[in-house]
Amino acid sequence: MKHLAEYKEEIHSCSKCGLCQSVCPIYKITGNDCTVSRGMFIMLRGLINGELKMTGRLNRYLDLCLKCGACSKFCPSDINVVDIIASAKAEYFKSHIFEKFISILQKYIFFGCGVSFLRLFSHNIVSKKYDKKVVYFGGCSGKIKGNRAVVKLLNSCNIEVITPDFKCCGIPFYVRGDKENFEEYKNNCLNLIAQTGVKDIVTTCASCEKTLKGFSSDIKVKNIFEYIRENNLKLKLKKNKKVTFHKPCNIDNYDDIKWILDNTENLEYVEMANFDECCGLNGISKINEYKIMSKIFKAKYDNIINSGAKTVLTSCIGCETALKLYSFGRYTVEDFTEFLVKNI
Ligand code: SF4
Ligand code: SF4
Repeated sequence: MKHLAEYKEEIHSCSKCGLCQSVCPIYKITGNDCTVSRGMFIMLRGLINGELKMTGRLNRYLDLCLKCGACSKFCPSDINVVDIIASAKAEYFKSHIFEKFISILQKYIFFGCGVSFLRLFSHNIVSKKYDKKVVYFGGCSGKIKGNRAVVKLLNSCNIEVITPDFKCCGIPFYVRGDKENFEEYKNNCLNLIAQTGVKDIVTTCASCEKTLKGFSSDIKVKNIFEYIRENNLKLKLKKNKKVTFHKPCNIDNYDDIKWILDNTENLEYVEMANFDECCGLNGISKINEYKIMSKIFKAKYDNIINSGAKTVLTSCIGCETALKLYSFGRYTVEDFTEFLVKNI
């Protein structure tokens, strides 16, 4: 994670065209330029130049950002907004004890005890041996769900799966600007990968995939859906199922997912409106911003209901958690990989 000042040039390259406003889910609700990259960059430039201080108010705007990256995809200056906001958050993090307290809760309670308890119910199997080997980075999701779905699908592609005991990829710490914990998780991950001697890494979670891709150019990270498509693995469900799909912001290879949705027998796929709009995960804990966040959750909920599908598939543990939290029993939310293996 770079220091905020190192982004000075990139921040300066913002032409203030305002294109980010047209896609930012938060700006669409607030209409406030301080809540979208263009306005935040003006404030961050003031911060770097010493004209502004990192106040609670500025931090509030940084916190409102969902880190969805939708603005970056539209930005003509190709500015990496999420990385810049994370570096700005690090400025706030280092002098605020409450942020450190949240990290302790995340590290020891949620990703520590919580995940350790849930892994008691996970399903693990031993992979068959093949010449081609990949390392499965499951992160928190892999600990909770086990490796069964990944091993079954990749073994069908004649690929052996190695499953080291990874921890979280560190993204929850990254987006909050907690450099120290993020580096700790990153190093733990890279050490375990180095011990396997294998450089091909497979993930099922879009957020883990994106985080791992930023770790090192020595490893090659792919999502399981790329392997399924590459190997032309055509699947058939035992019974007809009607589903819709929520595309996580962090997924790069939606084409591969769409190929599977279109080529799996007995699978009826209905595209919901705005299927690629952020689920609002980063706003889940912001009870103080309930009025803004509830509009994001409600829009996604309505789009799912209007699709007519009772099953929503996704491929990110964060999205899955958020979508489940506001489903109110009207639909079920499943991880795409798990769903496939459960139903074939
Ligand atoms: S789209 Fe990019 S260049 Fe345009 S205002 Fe937003 S951040 Fe600046
Ligand atoms: S990352 Fe998402 S929420 Fe944050 S400014 Fe960009 S579009 Fe808005």
